[in-house]
Amino acid sequence: MSENNFARGLVWLRNDLRMEDNTALYRAARACDALAAVFIACPETWRSHGDGDNVVAMRLRTLKSLQASLAKKHIPLYFLELSRFAQVPAALQQICGKLEVDALFANAEYPLNEQRRDAAVRDTLKQIRVPVEYCTDRTLIPPGSLTTNSGDGFKVFTPFKRAFIAQHDNSDCGFDPLPAPRSLGPDHGNRWPEWIALAGENNLVRSIPDSVGDYGVAPGGERKVLDWTVGEGAAKKRLEAFSAVIPDYHKQRDFPALEGTSRLSPYLNCGAISVRQCARMALEENGGRWAGSCEGASSWLNEILWREFYQHLVVHFPRVCRNLPFKPETEGVPWANRPSDFERWREGQTGVPIVDAAMRQLNQTGWMHNRLRMVVASFLTKNLLTDWRLGERYFMQQLVDADFAANNGGWQWAASTGTDAAPYFRVFNPYSQSKRFDPDGDFIRRFVPELEDYSNKDIHCPPRDLFRGGSYPVPICDVTQSRKHAIEVFANLKSQE
Ligand code: FAD
Repeated sequence: MSENNFARGLVWLRNDLRMEDNTALYRAARACDALAAVFIACPETWRSHGDGDNVVAMRLRTLKSLQASLAKKHIPLYFLELSRFAQVPAALQQICGKLEVDALFANAEYPLNEQRRDAAVRDTLKQIRVPVEYCTDRTLIPPGSLTTNSGDGFKVFTPFKRAFIAQHDNSDCGFDPLPAPRSLGPDHGNRWPEWIALAGENNLVRSIPDSVGDYGVAPGGERKVLDWTVGEGAAKKRLEAFSAVIPDYHKQRDFPALEGTSRLSPYLNCGAISVRQCARMALEENGGRWAGSCEGASSWLNEILWREFYQHLVVHFPRVCRNLPFKPETEGVPWANRPSDFERWREGQTGVPIVDAAMRQLNQTGWMHNRLRMVVASFLTKNLLTDWRLGERYFMQQLVDADFAANNGGWQWAASTGTDAAPYFRVFNPYSQSKRFDPDGDFIRRFVPELEDYSNKDIHCPPRDLFRGGSYPVPICDVTQSRKHAIEVFANLKSQE
């Protein structure tokens, strides 16, 4: 759409809850004389994703802070709750009609259902001659734009990364963040109604609730999100604080007892900060290069590209959005799926200290360190031979940074059903991981107080004779035997191909 064409526009906010460097918001403000914003909450969508209270509460609280910032620019933010995903196109048609807007702007989303919904919105609004512009914003480059020589999507991270860097490594950085939208002026703001009645369900209102349906403020959920300061300002402060320690990222990032990573994931996922703002900070540290002289910045940019890779993957390989494994040949894994195994894993009661500490970190804080996400996912899918989809869903319900693409990618990678370039016999040994990455047991002691008196040596795998008939369980499985069994199961699958 060309600029400055419209008298009244509407920006549809989703997981892009910020003022600065918000492509759709910026373009809409430039293209329209007056602008309103809308957020549509749809518990059915959240349920289909497995989203839980933590991520929804983070979204709603961020939305409230954004509403105040938008108001200063005379852009009213409306809120609508719909019970069903399928109602979104018709609801937007009504909203555009009643608010008399001439154009709709939004940032593109990539999971399959979201793409279908957005296509339906475009078609529906065409009937009332309201053009829709979807902008690239959640990723650094449009998913689909980076392909192999044969035009396919990349299936493995390293070649994806090489191709990305070949296109974008230059010293002028690129990925310049956009400024906040211009102010739309008080006269236009006054012409927007306080609320509007919509046919059927809820009305379009200006108040943002604390909860939607049964989401948002479950007692535990609220407490966990309260531990995170919300909003764009908080996200920027975190990025700034992290820029001071980024040179050491590569040395610290694998040690869960340290604050060695940015903890920006909850902000990136609700959109309180953009991936360009993050990349830009690290590129500046790194002389404009993706793999430059600052090892910490290069290593962090590598993680930013993992995020990008998984976002692109869902577009190239939509089967992963249908609850299917990325590698079709792994559809036949005979998962054991013993309910008591899953329950003990979920509750942090497996008797394997690093796994239990990690699961309790997730249950208590809504976040888990990346190294431990890999360890617990490998443990559940390989040692306990439990279907990755159960773990994937539990993570979505608990994580304050829950994101379909990253979570699905991470789970399938760990389960050897996904994009891991290494063969299926990569099985993390939780005891060696524990000794290597939590050498003094500080992290374990923080979350498994039952073990606080054990020595630094014994805490990783408490010897059986030291179990004091206490509250900590004996290990749920023999790690060596269960590893061997998982490898046999996967090898069998290969031989049946
Ligand atoms: P940093 O180390 O500071 O990294 C910066 C950013 O890079 C992160 O905020 C994140 O956006 C991105 N990133 C880092 N590592 C990865 C990765 N391996 N894959 C994709 N993006 C990455 N990340 C989510 O954002 N949401 C999820 O639901 C999620 N589920 C996961 C499930 C499993 C089983 C695994 C193995 C990983 C998962 N990750 C997920 C990726 C990663 O664990 C988190 O992004 C990271 O721990 C967030 O902490 P941070 O912000 O301090 O990361």
